[in-house]
Amino acid sequence: MSSSLGSEHRFAQFKLVLLGESAVGKSSIVQRFVKDSFSDFRESTIGAAFLTQTVDLDANTTVKFEIWDTAGQERYRSLASIYYRNAQAALVVYDITQESSLDKAKYWIKELQKQARGGIIIALVGNKTDLEQERKVSSEEAESFAKGLGLLYFEVSAKSGTGVRECFKQIALKMPIEDSLRKR
Ligand code: GDP
Repeated sequence: MSSSLGSEHRFAQFKLVLLGESAVGKSSIVQRFVKDSFSDFRESTIGAAFLTQTVDLDANTTVKFEIWDTAGQERYRSLASIYYRNAQAALVVYDITQESSLDKAKYWIKELQKQARGGIIIALVGNKTDLEQERKVSSEEAESFAKGLGLLYFEVSAKSGTGVRECFKQIALKMPIEDSLRKR
């Protein structure tokens, strides 16, 4: 076992994109992860700006995510190539209370697998678990779909915060940290 004493801090940065139907809570998940807050009204995201947030994997390893939100432009297919380019991770979000949003998530997963370079880590994320009584998509259905394609699967609530940090941490654990350090 190697000692952490005196060893250099490992710091790796990755691009992560968010995809999914409008209003499933993509911006809210980012807001929860980056600012640990939630607002009920919809803020229209302006421009193609991205936000960053870090995850400490251990005392010596920090992963920084450069998080790209679609900024409400999910409709524009032309967005795809610039948006996916060089993304190492993707969160494909659906709303557990909207069956159609899972169909849309499946569509985006197919698009990602077609357009992104191989090796991208994709997580299927069911949001709004605080609305359990309005649930329309069972965990089993979504999870078996995700596992069948070798994707990560999480259920979260941007509103309560449940599961959000854990989701990003699990994705961070899958990032090719050694490769990224070697390239620098
Ligand atoms: P986006 O279009 O996918 O970025 O979705 P937004 O983040 O703008 O959220 C759409 C709506 O869903 C807003 O009214 C949010 O307040 C609401 N929302 C987002 N996440 C949650 C959640 O976890 N639970 C509940 N109850 N509402 C949420």
